[in-house]
Amino acid sequence: MSNRIRIAISSCLLGHAVRYDGGHRYEQHLTDTLARFCELVPVCPEVDCGLPVPRETMHLVEAPERPHLLTIDSRLDHTGQMLAWSREQIEELEEENLHGYIGKSHSPSCGLENVAVMAADGTYHKTGTGLFALELKKHFPELPMAEECQLHNPKLLDKFIKDVFAYRRHTHQHP
Ligand code: SF4
Repeated sequence: MSNRIRIAISSCLLGHAVRYDGGHRYEQHLTDTLARFCELVPVCPEVDCGLPVPRETMHLVEAPERPHLLTIDSRLDHTGQMLAWSREQIEELEEENLHGYIGKSHSPSCGLENVAVMAADGTYHKTGTGLFALELKKHFPELPMAEECQLHNPKLLDKFIKDVFAYRRHTHQHP
């Protein structure tokens, strides 16, 4: 097991062209800053669970147990595929010694909070968490987590970094 600090991050924030439209959301300043002291582990739940690039856009739709992940126009339900992959991925991350997670805001797969969820009447409520991020939160309740937009604030970035170091101190051996 490596002693390096490892932070999982939405791949599109690292400049990988994995978004639904074949684009990315490169956060160069943020990722360069973090890469000075940690290894950034790219995760794209939508592509890694088997969906293509480009692909139809998806959203969360209210359902009794948890929101479902559906394509917007054709209404294909990818919930089962995403959850099965997420659980496997989380087992792998557990073995790889993870110390933090940075998720792309607003994403129905990666976003941590305020993700739009469509209710039965067709209205949207910003109450959701992306499906992968939700599984991650359940499995690692103490893991430091943030969205890229929060980390534009230097105070929140500083706090996130301190939380990552504290998490490593409390959970793993280190040199
Ligand atoms: S937000 Fe998440 S699922 Fe969407 S492209 Fe970025 S890494 Fe992939």
